[in-house]
Amino acid sequence: QAKDLGRNQICSYTKEMNELVRHRVELEHALRYGIERGELELFYQPQLDAKRQLIVGVEALVRWRHDEKLISPGAFIPIAEETGLILDLDAWVVHEACRQAKAWQDQGLSPVTISVNLSAGQFRRARCVPLIRDALERSGLEARYLKVEATESMVMKNTEDALDTMRQLKSMGIELAMDDFGTGYSSLSYLKRFPFDQIKIDKSFVDNVTEDPEGAAILRSVISLADTLGMQTVAEGVETMDQFAYLTRIGCDQIQGYVYSPPIPREAFEHFLQEDRSWDTNKGFVPQTGE
Ligand code: C2E
Ligand code: MG
Ligand code: MG
Ligand code: MG
Repeated sequence: QAKDLGRNQICSYTKEMNELVRHRVELEHALRYGIERGELELFYQPQLDAKRQLIVGVEALVRWRHDEKLISPGAFIPIAEETGLILDLDAWVVHEACRQAKAWQDQGLSPVTISVNLSAGQFRRARCVPLIRDALERSGLEARYLKVEATESMVMKNTEDALDTMRQLKSMGIELAMDDFGTGYSSLSYLKRFPFDQIKIDKSFVDNVTEDPEGAAILRSVISLADTLGMQTVAEGVETMDQFAYLTRIGCDQIQGYVYSPPIPREAFEHFLQEDRSWDTNKGFVPQTGE
């Protein structure tokens, strides 16, 4: 009897496994053709200069429009990474981001930097360098408007390779941002070994900043150290006006988060750039009155 029970368990376990595998295979297949068919889209999230309260940059975040659904990167980037599709995906993102940023400039919109996220493998053996050079050349975008975001694990895993990659990008005139700072193990002094221009402070640091005095103290020292080391700071995941005001007061350079705007489609972002809306740290948007 016990044996039967065990066998049944194994059976249902195997069935679930099969379904999981089938689901992944289907997803991989769909993603492969999705990329070819042009189902990827970029959404854009504004980055605000905290003091001047102007849009100075934008982060390009990929989305997959499939079966009338909009799928978030968390749901397909891991599969793309496991199957090698990530190379096609990264290439598409970099080309599209450069093309779009140049198109905005050609439309006469005020120039902003555009940040792209790359997968971990792109920092090995400077794989991303020819891709980025090609994208800049083809789009005609000046290198100083492109920013590449890398996470801690991307640079810590293979330090020499990563350093080489980063130096090559820097020598082309591209800026580098450390993404999700605070989620890994590195200290700022260690980061100084890498030529980052910008540190993006992770949302988890920002969340309780107005309620948690210790968290706030850590944040203040991160910002002042970054300043000493000549790196800009960007706060990610800023959701409330209180956080916005506090971060601005302690000298954080840029703000990115729902408080101003979530990632939005191209047309909506263009609207932002065109409108030149004023933003008041106490009130949010100030409607433009008359002429
Ligand atoms: P990330 O680069 O750290 O991007 C920030 C994430 O935080 C985005 O999620 C964004 O929508 C979200 N976010 C921004 N402001 C707020 C806020 O105020 N509150 C909250 N709750 N969330 C906020 P998203 O777009 O789902 O992207 C998730 C991650 O997927 C990104 O994290 C990045 O690591 C990766 N990713 C996105 N696009 C690409 C891409 O084109 N290529 C690669 N390789 N990875 C990408
Ligand atoms: Mg990012
Ligand atoms: Mg981040
Ligand atoms: Mg600074």
